[in-house]
Amino acid sequence: MKEFETILYETPAQQVARIVLNRPETRNSQDTKLLYELNDAFNVAARDDNIKVIILAANGPHFSSGHDLREQNPYQKMLDYDTVGTWCGFTCAGAEAQMAREKEIYVGFCERWRNIPKPTIATVQGKCVAGGLMLIWPCDIIIASEDAEFVDPTVSFGVDGVEFFAHPWELGPRKAKEFLFTSDWISAVEAHRIGMVNQVVPREKLQEAALAMAQKITKKSLFALKLTKEAVNAAEDAQGRVGAIQTSFALHQLAHTHNLKVYGMLIDPTGLPPETAKALGARIEKKQN
Ligand code: ZN
Repeated sequence: MKEFETILYETPAQQVARIVLNRPETRNSQDTKLLYELNDAFNVAARDDNIKVIILAANGPHFSSGHDLREQNPYQKMLDYDTVGTWCGFTCAGAEAQMAREKEIYVGFCERWRNIPKPTIATVQGKCVAGGLMLIWPCDIIIASEDAEFVDPTVSFGVDGVEFFAHPWELGPRKAKEFLFTSDWISAVEAHRIGMVNQVVPREKLQEAALAMAQKITKKSLFALKLTKEAVNAAEDAQGRVGAIQTSFALHQLAHTHNLKVYGMLIDPTGLPPETAKALGARIEKKQN
């Protein structure tokens, strides 16, 4: 098996794989390498006929702080990988590079992982911010610790939600709008109440709870599990999920291009703490039209 640098691949029980985000020093922020390694690890688990259930976990106090906005030359780095999509154009001019990158490593990966034909269980502790949602929402089951909190603050930064726009299906349309319009946090208890999370457990029981559910699932036929997942996913897709995500992705690209023209960066930095905006090289003074 490949050597991973940013994740761990474990087999904590028979027929169960556990993939662990392992950049706790950056609160598991997602750079290009982490996302490709995560995709490779999902491939390993998906192709191993001895694995029936895949658990996604994260080391450290927080599940994920989202996309790594400090990554240097992210577009150039795309050239180092065998991509899962066919668009390419990661170093092209204008709006194409950011669209190509996000189509590949955000929407492309999330949709791919959502369709892995084996049950997947995300375990979430601490903060799960923006891009963090894009790792747990593609999973079939979400188990949260009591201290878990969820937020998508992208509207504060001039963008209409994270790239994988599953919000209406995860939260229901009204809660999705409140979540996005306010950038407020949702607690584990609230996430459980609205059906985004399956179980809430004490922090120290998080992996134990996931493993218990995984082992219950491994008693079933893998083919029956695959068919069942396909059937539930098809019900969501019959509601127009795929088309809605594509529409939102196009609007998301418009937002990035707008921000680039006005602020010289992909997000509206006026929503960021000033020191963060400065560190990211934001052009806070609005460009004149
Ligand atoms: Zn984006």
